[in-house]
Amino acid sequence: MIAKSNIVDLLEKAVAGERLSVGEGLTLLESHDLAALGRAADEVTRRLHPENYRTYNIDRNINYTNVCTAVCDFCAFYRSPKSPEGYVLDREVLMKKIEETVELGGDQILLQGGLHPDYKLDWYEELLEAIKDRFPDLNIHGFSPPEIYHFTKLNKLTTSDVLRRLKAAGLGSLPGGGAEILVDRVRREMTRGKVMSDDWLDVNRVWHELGGRSTATMMFGHIETLAERIEHLERLRRLQDETAGFTAFICWTFQPDHTDMSDIAPAGSFEYLKTNAVARLYLDNFANLQSSWVTQGLKIGQLALLYGANDMGSLMIEENVVAEAGTVHHLSLEQIRAAITDLGYQPRQRNVHYKLLDGQLPEDEPSQLVQHSRQNPLNIVS
Ligand code: SF4
Repeated sequence: MIAKSNIVDLLEKAVAGERLSVGEGLTLLESHDLAALGRAADEVTRRLHPENYRTYNIDRNINYTNVCTAVCDFCAFYRSPKSPEGYVLDREVLMKKIEETVELGGDQILLQGGLHPDYKLDWYEELLEAIKDRFPDLNIHGFSPPEIYHFTKLNKLTTSDVLRRLKAAGLGSLPGGGAEILVDRVRREMTRGKVMSDDWLDVNRVWHELGGRSTATMMFGHIETLAERIEHLERLRRLQDETAGFTAFICWTFQPDHTDMSDIAPAGSFEYLKTNAVARLYLDNFANLQSSWVTQGLKIGQLALLYGANDMGSLMIEENVVAEAGTVHHLSLEQIRAAITDLGYQPRQRNVHYKLLDGQLPEDEPSQLVQHSRQNPLNIVS
């Protein structure tokens, strides 16, 4: 049993902008005072984002292939290279999806796939160039760290060389998929043939050093301990201190249906909101936290905006990976906007850099973050 006074002290410390230690973060995760955690997380959110709006963006998740050489027990999406159910999206189908996205007001695609054994780097360069040729203003938020790491191995190139080449071909930003829990004990138990923690972080480090920006994620509620959940946050916080290259943090609960880990009971809304709130309190150098309504549904996704999130994430025109695992929620743009409005905020569309897309200047520059940086910002695939 954790003393109430202890929790109150820690929450006051975080609200005042003081950094929590690993042990203090763990104490908060072990507590069950959801209302107090939410209140404190919301205070921090309102300190960082005092403006009268909350944001969302419009993009489309395009999974260009489900063929994957890795085996992740939590993934219901992938097919082995020999499977007759494997696909690689036809180029024109992919372009059509982008066209539809742009017509719906989208400014970005999330381009991710399995770890395909056959395509060399020039195939991806050519793909990026073809997309940018047709849609020069589109941001390609593409290739999560496991894919980048896979490209380095397949092509016998350094991470820096791979990222430089992809950037030159049109890659705009890196998605934070494939982080799951950045503790090798956890990764070894549930993945095979996939990037380990240090290399996941290193891909981001190198990308940030090249001037790129990426997001950070956490999929929790499976075989990790609460201490490992905090270790994950600690590793992200340390890298953010070094590079300030993460634009946002997004967490969601493991969706077990149709996976090889379907015997695990899914974590509920209480656990999701609690973890989101603790992440807001712990990640003092992250400007933005996104709600995960795709896994939590509209009502809990909306509540996340009171538990540390300041952004509803993407309209997510397509989400194959969580859908394969059985849990997927679809919301219209009107529903996302109404969820924000109902909380008393204006809904505003933003891009990957959190710049507002309606002509007004952003007010959410991370000026009020605790600055520790030397430079002083679904069971998802891969
Ligand atoms: S999560 Fe990614 S790397 Fe793992 S099996 Fe699925 S597609 Fe492959």
